[in-house]
Amino acid sequence: MKKIYLDNAATTPIRQEVIDEMMKVMQSEYGNPSSTHSVGRSAKAIIETARKTIAKYLHCNAQEIIFTSTATEATNWILRSAVKDFGVTRIITSKVEHHATLYTVQALQEEFGIEVEFVNVAHDGTLDYDQFSTLLSNNTKTIVSLMHVNNETGVVNDIERIGVMCHQNKALFHCDTVQSIGKTELNIQELQVDFLVASAHKFHGPKGVGFAFVRKNLVLQPMLFGGEQEKGWRAGTESVHQIAGMAKALELSYQHLDEERKQISELKAYCFQKLQASFQDVAINGSNTFYNILNVLLPFTPEKTAMILFNLDMKGIAVSRGSACQSGSIKPSHVLVEMLYEDELKKPSLRISFSHYNTTAEIDYLVSALKEI
Ligand code: PLP
Repeated sequence: MKKIYLDNAATTPIRQEVIDEMMKVMQSEYGNPSSTHSVGRSAKAIIETARKTIAKYLHCNAQEIIFTSTATEATNWILRSAVKDFGVTRIITSKVEHHATLYTVQALQEEFGIEVEFVNVAHDGTLDYDQFSTLLSNNTKTIVSLMHVNNETGVVNDIERIGVMCHQNKALFHCDTVQSIGKTELNIQELQVDFLVASAHKFHGPKGVGFAFVRKNLVLQPMLFGGEQEKGWRAGTESVHQIAGMAKALELSYQHLDEERKQISELKAYCFQKLQASFQDVAINGSNTFYNILNVLLPFTPEKTAMILFNLDMKGIAVSRGSACQSGSIKPSHVLVEMLYEDELKKPSLRISFSHYNTTAEIDYLVSALKEI
């Protein structure tokens, strides 16, 4: 059966060039980067070149990039370290963040008794910047954790503005950029962000590797103890091929950004037009949404709602109801619960997320499959 993959916010297919790069590294660069002989030094050089490549595209210093296994790991480490090592006693976040942030914040609250404040989210998924400003004005040692692009709705937060507001109020700013890195230009020099996190598999790279940006002069404590890898902050022998693959994936994403963004934006617009032509009252969840995520509320009956993902899956179509981690769960999405009205939550919402590998023919197939339900 043909497979139609429209769940690119969950993860993306790896580009062939990235696989080739990783194969090359696995075949010839088997050295331990900590070894001082030439085999080790050669592996070390691959890692440092990857760090420089990533830093170049994000406009920061290579030393500010720390390799991790995932964005989840990076977020856990940064928020925990902010509380334990920087004396942060308050976290400001929002209830529509990814669980990597929300559950870390909850654990820190239980463990250290820190204060947690949530920025209000409107029906269209946008943040209440006035209330955020009021929260910030309280003179408490604070870290703000707000994402760039929401993984379920694609709603884009104004991280330039958030950064300025944080720094005016002497708060640290951690930003989950998992959905935007590699998909839009990010100039860290111009953003007043202290920490940001990314995962390679969201930009056509391998799974199980990511990185944190940690602004120069901010000294975190190790998340893992052991060797001297990653400034001693993350001990353990580096996964050289994964790091090389991640840098290659980021480089290709930025090299092809203009054409792929245009193609994906057109696919999204086409998809919504087709849905509108086929279903009365179809609506987009969220406003000011990112070009690769379309979260739609479909006017289906409760009987059809229960079967929708199953029916699409039977036809080889992969889409998501909420965040990837929640697919298959019967709980409504924690993001949509914050945004939508009760009656809207009873209807199905689908997250359709695109990549440059998708075609209009695939969208036609999705829409006709939805019509048959
Ligand atoms: N943050 C956002 C916005 C995400 O979409 C995801 C993955 O779905 C994560 C964090 C966690 O990424 P990972 O599972 O690669 O650590």
